[in-house]
Amino acid sequence: MPANKSDDIRIGVFICHCGSNIAGYLDMEALGSYAESLPHVAFVQRNLYTCSEGGINEIKKAIGEKNLNRVVVASCTPRTHEPLFRSSCAEAGLNPYLFEMVNIRDQCSWVHMQEREDGTSKAKDLIRMGVAKAALLEPQNPIMSEVTPRAMIIGGGIAGMTAALALANRGYEVVVVERSDRLGGMLLNLNKLGPSMADAAELAEKTVKAVSCHPKITVFTGSSVTGVQGFIGKYSADIETPAGAKKIDLGVIIVATGARNLVPAGLFQYEGEKIVTQLELETRLKKGLASSLKDFVMIQCVGARNEERPYCSRICCQTAVKNALLIREQAPGSKVTILYRDMQMYGVENEEMFRDSKARGIRYVNYDPEKPPRVEGSSVVVYNALLGREMKLPFDLLALSTPLLSQEDSDETGKLLRVPVDENGFFLEGHVKLKPLDFATDGVFLCGSARFPANVREAVAQGLGAASRASIPLSKGSVVVEPIISVLANEDACRGCGLCVALCPYGALEIHKTEKGRKVRVIDVACKGCGVCAATCYQHALTINSFTDDQIEAQIGAFLG
Ligand code: SF4
Ligand code: SF4
Repeated sequence: MPANKSDDIRIGVFICHCGSNIAGYLDMEALGSYAESLPHVAFVQRNLYTCSEGGINEIKKAIGEKNLNRVVVASCTPRTHEPLFRSSCAEAGLNPYLFEMVNIRDQCSWVHMQEREDGTSKAKDLIRMGVAKAALLEPQNPIMSEVTPRAMIIGGGIAGMTAALALANRGYEVVVVERSDRLGGMLLNLNKLGPSMADAAELAEKTVKAVSCHPKITVFTGSSVTGVQGFIGKYSADIETPAGAKKIDLGVIIVATGARNLVPAGLFQYEGEKIVTQLELETRLKKGLASSLKDFVMIQCVGARNEERPYCSRICCQTAVKNALLIREQAPGSKVTILYRDMQMYGVENEEMFRDSKARGIRYVNYDPEKPPRVEGSSVVVYNALLGREMKLPFDLLALSTPLLSQEDSDETGKLLRVPVDENGFFLEGHVKLKPLDFATDGVFLCGSARFPANVREAVAQGLGAASRASIPLSKGSVVVEPIISVLANEDACRGCGLCVALCPYGALEIHKTEKGRKVRVIDVACKGCGVCAATCYQHALTINSFTDDQIEAQIGAFLG
């Protein structure tokens, strides 16, 4: 019998009412008395909100007064609350990994709202399983690793440049790798920035100059990253530059590779002269070329929100409205008609710009994607559902609002950095709400249109955000990694076959030679404890801290009764 199965295991179980979220649907009294009957349980308490200051203090008090050496909280989701409860245990002097959380809210009260008895019975099962596992938990110690105080930013558009300046101004060395021959990205092609109508060229010039002159920033233009090794704090990148290959040590990486504009070849008779994209229109407006024209038509959602590209590119509507207003400034007597499916003008200022555009006589005509507009010579014919007939709109210039696309090589970049892309090729953040600028891979962050189409203001905000996230490990100088990782529990069993190495999504395993032959080695800091390797190893050589075979078997055993 393992040492920690002895009678001196004293488990405290804290059952949260979560206001009425849990208590409104489960029999809390029954759960409390049931928990008291479980092996090794020395103390049970019910709390209105276990995560409140009062609830936390109760846990800390009980650890001291009741001499608890394991804690189980039955409440909401560990995704949001586990760190809080773990640190509370630590504050009371208990190793934070002697803590187990049971989710009786999402898994019981929320999904069994109409089944009080069954929901309560399921919560009992989960608490029993949690207690069985808690009895076998072992103390763990956090893993520390030093951080090289240098960041690499892939992409020198406005998001990447903003992130570079934010980090460099905090005193960190920054390397910017830009594939084109100059900094600035898509900003270089823009005219004015809505809704403030600030000058894009001015912003580009100012930012490019600040980045190029900054003593802490090294810029490699015409360059690309060809290899990345390592883990948070200790990355190393291979960069192909016009002057030859370079290898640079880094602590963190920010992906700011931006996006590209769809060229609508074959759509609405696009030819780049009289029928252009909004991006091409920006260049014309920059040169004041709209002043000699009279009739303008714009078509929204060109090549977007269809089977091939089902997503809304978010920023095309605001771009169209902004350009329509600028056209009216350059050509005051002109007519501008925007044909749209739905106007996506999120945000107070964009809404105002939209209202303003209507007040200034910009015409909006809704079209049905089933009856899309068509180009006939120098006119657009569109079915107007309000009028119940087709309209013919002559144009001197037709602007097509096309979506932003992910970079063609985003998949390759993703593989290089071991970070995921979504079905449209945009990089996928760690968590849409909790980690919007982080990847699941520690030490790699993202910002701007590499993540999803963003306007300049959003790209700047995200650039600052990503820099802020990246500066946390840089400023600490070391990282502390959760010790719930893979361990080679049975070295003799490992045959060094490398199957686990090939399957680890985080590159956290390697094979090395030992006196006993080829064996696997876990790179602690890189491991995320996903469990793929332990589940894969047919020799049962690897296990995951706090998810050992014993612990999982105990849970299953407790479930089966
Ligand atoms: Fe192969 Fe298992 Fe060893 Fe990995 S741990 S190398 S899967 S034997
Ligand atoms: Fe890789 Fe295994 Fe760690 Fe998962 S648990 S990250 S597969 S080493």
